[in-house]
Amino acid sequence: MDITTSKITAGTTLTVPLSPDGDDVFEWVAGDSPLRVFRSSTTWEVLRPRQEKQDWVDIIWFKGAVPKHSFTMWVMNYDRLPTRSRFAGWGMMVSAKCAFCSRYDETRDHLMLTCEYSQYV
Ligand SMILES: [Zn+2]
Repeated sequence: MDITTSKITAGTTLTVPLSPDGDDVFEWVAGDSPLRVFRSSTTWEVLRPRQEKQDWVDIIWFKGAVPKHSFTMWVMNYDRLPTRSRFAGWGMMVSAKCAFCSRYDETRDHLMLTCEYSQYV
């Protein structure tokens, strides 16, 4: 008896859960509702984390907005701009000082609200 035969013999001792004569049936379930066909968009809607709609959504995302500007504003509202102070906080060997004025740490609030150079521009 070789190894292949012993594997086949061992496999025959297991009972098959369904009749081997029947057709296979599959069902997609997204959330609580079964689907007839798989849709990646429906799956994405079920899987992605949801947040409450923010007050500023209509100010940032509107028809005619420049996508690059909307994206930057959106990232800024979550305080996720790649500023020097964040880089330094992550351990990168960069100066945390503002690239424009070199007087204060480069944070979102400094860049957008208090930096003299930004105010001048
Ligand atoms: Zn500055």
